[in-house]
Amino acid sequence: QVSSVELTQYFLDRIAAGEVFNAYLDVNPDLSLVQAAQADALRATGKAGKLTGIPIAHKDVFVTRGWKSTAASKMLENYQSPFDATVVSNLGMPDEANSHGAGMVCLGKTNMDEFAMGSSNENSAYGPVLNPWNTDYVAGGSSGGSAAAVAAGLAPIATGTDTGGSIRQPAAFCGLTGIKPSYGRVSRYGMIAYASSLDQAGPMGKSAEDCALLLSAMSSHDPRDSTSLADSGEDYSRYLNQPWREGNSNSAKPLEGLRIGMPKEFFAEGLSEEVAKSVHAAAKLLEGLGAQIVEVSLPKTKLSIPVYYVLAPAEASSNLSRFDGVRYGYRANEYRDLNDMYKKSRTEGFGAEVKRRILIGTYVLSHGYYDAYYLQAQKIRRIIAADFQTAFQNCDVILGPVAPDVAWRLGDKSKDPLQMYLEDIYTLSANLAGLPAMSAPCGFNSKNLPIGMQLIGNYFSEGKLLQVAHQYQ
Ligand code: GLN
Repeated sequence: QVSSVELTQYFLDRIAAGEVFNAYLDVNPDLSLVQAAQADALRATGKAGKLTGIPIAHKDVFVTRGWKSTAASKMLENYQSPFDATVVSNLGMPDEANSHGAGMVCLGKTNMDEFAMGSSNENSAYGPVLNPWNTDYVAGGSSGGSAAAVAAGLAPIATGTDTGGSIRQPAAFCGLTGIKPSYGRVSRYGMIAYASSLDQAGPMGKSAEDCALLLSAMSSHDPRDSTSLADSGEDYSRYLNQPWREGNSNSAKPLEGLRIGMPKEFFAEGLSEEVAKSVHAAAKLLEGLGAQIVEVSLPKTKLSIPVYYVLAPAEASSNLSRFDGVRYGYRANEYRDLNDMYKKSRTEGFGAEVKRRILIGTYVLSHGYYDAYYLQAQKIRRIIAADFQTAFQNCDVILGPVAPDVAWRLGDKSKDPLQMYLEDIYTLSANLAGLPAMSAPCGFNSKNLPIGMQLIGNYFSEGKLLQVAHQYQ
């Protein structure tokens, strides 16, 4: 049996050899090995859980004691948090203060788009992440570092966050499985906030089985997050091998009774042929497992882009006001007075995309535009959520693409923010509605780049989503 120290050293060596991908922003091998030794001690006393001693990489948006927590921004360069995010402590070493820790070993912090704003990981202040399948291509974003780390074997599994697709899309671009749970399932405490009503954390791994294990340990009720659900989630692994219909014998097809809805708006203009073909092939395979395919409609799909890109910047402009050069991180060297200090610190500390979002957010919240943009977007958000409920009257799970195409070449879209925003069309609506949604690999395009399919479920059905993906895999 391999020890956690050996396993951790193996991954640390791979991280050092895999620097080209730029997947990690901070490592601390000494501390990782201390944690691994603690995990081995726990294992020796028989107090180990399933995840004890398994290494993990955390997206740099989770504050983590012992590592820097920068959210890939110059604003938080060298920032060290005095406490752990709930996700980090739920997964980390148990101690007196934290008896519930799963005992996983932190390998380091992964690169991301600055403050999780982006779809390609090119908005990091510390350089883009390269896609391990082909280093001329983006890894996806914003959790691109986590995706590349797992895809390149620099971590067995990783955490990510998803405000509008940031777990699902990089998972798809790097050939991984990732799940964004229902809003409220995982605590946001210690997760550097982007758009609080949309942000959710989740696992990114090699299989639905791995994700089920990790999500079970990540989920908890947390009194420090007022939107945290009252219950602590479930053991999501127990769903994986059940027949879909309760009471069906094991000889029946495993997904007999499952109705899969394919929204016609997800297969309309804009979707690449190769992705469409691959998702349809996945639907065929699921049919073979006993599922029935039905057509459903999500009529406001196109509006999810303007709605999201009003609401997310609005919340971001408020959340990011705390970075003022006084309390956290970066402060300009020279300034005349307090106002000048705010101005210079924020001008120098934030990257271009973050500034764009702050400007958009401030604009749509300002007197005179609030009703026309912010309020209107909130109303359509409600309609988008209601449309899902209509669709779920005719199906149990929704199947579609994760993104219109596979990973693109580095630099291809970074000069045109609107181009980049359009790439989020299929992922945004699950966040706007607060629904669980996941991405699972379903093939490759002609250039050998991975293609992902998306499964969206009704509230709190993450176990069922993982079950469908597991049966498919
Ligand atoms: N691409 C989207 C954005 O830039 C979503 C990012 C995310 O989910 N964090 O806002």
